[in-house]
Amino acid sequence: MVHEMRRWKQRLEQTECEAILRQATSGVLALIDGEGTYAVPLSYVYQDHCLYFHCAKSGHKLELLQEHPSVSFCVIDQDHVVPDEYTTYFRSVIVFGEMDVLKDKQEKELALSALAHKYAPKHSMDQIHAYLSKHGEPCLILRLRISHMSGKEAKELREKQVEQGS
Ligand SMILES: Cc1cc2nc3c(=O)[nH]c(=O)nc-3n(C[C@H](O)[C@H](O)[C@H](O)COP(=O)(O)OP(=O)(O)OC[C@H]3O[C@@H](n4cnc5c(N)ncnc54)[C@H](O)[C@@H]3O)c2cc1C
Repeated sequence: MVHEMRRWKQRLEQTECEAILRQATSGVLALIDGEGTYAVPLSYVYQDHCLYFHCAKSGHKLELLQEHPSVSFCVIDQDHVVPDEYTTYFRSVIVFGEMDVLKDKQEKELALSALAHKYAPKHSMDQIHAYLSKHGEPCLILRLRISHMSGKEAKELREKQVEQGS
């Protein structure tokens, strides 16, 4: 279910959300845990309207995903505290969708390479592949198929953008 943003003037465009997803280096994955919740920070890469994550083959989040594949993932782009105004000039994106574990070997390799390239952009693909062929095997790749996303920024940032005409 998509909830409309109350303060819609602070809403980011989809292209702005995507730019943040490409640039940020981590976010927090929110999962349902029985009657409660579990929020866990993770690195990720954004590609083809999906987010990809790598993780160990067992653990708390994997157990929960098997029961409840619907998740959200929040990325904070900016959190600039302004003490004189008792506020923060923030910008963030929340992604919603279903998560699954990649089974296909080729898809896994592509996602893992994309992750490695994001976090080590100066390394050649040869370097990355050599590293992954040695160390990449024991991990799983999770895919979050995005159903929708929303982005929001502090009204002060939005006003500044309007002033600058962007
Ligand atoms: C910026 C950042 C990036 C990360 N990137 C990755 C990544 O790409 N892949 C990856 O697998 N992991 C990553 N981690 C570690 C990740 O947060 C988890 O610790 C890890 O994935 C294990 O999760 P799990 O649910 O299997 O925990 P388990 O090992 O099953 O942990 C059990 C319990 O330990 C506690 N716990 C687990 N993780 C944390 C945590 N981070 N902080 C506080 N308590 C915790 C919780 O209470 C949890 O219920 C990252 C962490 C940070 C901060």
